[in-house]
Amino acid sequence: YNNQLQRSDKLEVIGELAASIAHEVRNPLQVTRGFLQLLSLKVIEQEKEFMHLAISELDRASDIITDFLTFAKPQLDNFTSLHVQSELKQIEGIIIPLARLSGGEVELHIPGDLHIQGNSSKFKQAMINLIKNGIEAMKQPGKIDIWAYDRNGDVRIHIRDSGEGMDASELARLGEPYFSTKTKGTGLGLMVTFRIIEVMQGTIEFLSDKGSGTEVILTFPALEEEKGVN
Ligand code: ADP
Ligand code: MG
Repeated sequence: YNNQLQRSDKLEVIGELAASIAHEVRNPLQVTRGFLQLLSLKVIEQEKEFMHLAISELDRASDIITDFLTFAKPQLDNFTSLHVQSELKQIEGIIIPLARLSGGEVELHIPGDLHIQGNSSKFKQAMINLIKNGIEAMKQPGKIDIWAYDRNGDVRIHIRDSGEGMDASELARLGEPYFSTKTKGTGLGLMVTFRIIEVMQGTIEFLSDKGSGTEVILTFPALEEEKGVN
């Protein structure tokens, strides 16, 4: 009788259950969002703000479910060669406006010859989570610097913010489920991000000082260029 095996079987069942509930809940959220968007074209000016809020709260619920689903099923399959520069180009449209809304800017320096292995949408989810944290920590006028390079067969990606930074006790709690210092935070972002990076055989490191900002360093095994798909 092997208790260990029984426990991991149970965990797998819980993972499956969580994933199917998440899928089921996401569908009605999407439908509701569609109808709200239709209705928002018809409401009077004073009501538009409420519609906007309702839609953004639905999006928040959707994001929480996506994070949770990723944790339960991090998609080990669907791995392809990722062109780091193109992947980051694709999320610029989300992060640059987001930074502007908080009075900051984003500067990217990604060379065109870096390839890593992973699931494209999960990698983007991890990058967005990390960059969003940087934006949310920003003091005005803020700046996020993102750069990457190859070092001895590893691809290293740095994300540095000029934000509020963290002390040792906060740093120690990163990735812990529900650890958040924000009023509207979920404390799930980093938990999921760590999982995605782990599945991609990568590592993550945080350098931070209270008051002067944070630098995140991601390291992934580089894929040889000839194997890369552009
Ligand atoms: P959330 O963003 O919902 O709070 P996360 O898991 O993304 O959850 O982050 C957890 C906590 O880690 C944040 O609430 C914040 O206190 C801290 N944190 C993460 N990244 C940064 C950063 N770049 N600068 C300062 N604090 C950070
Ligand atoms: Mg976050």
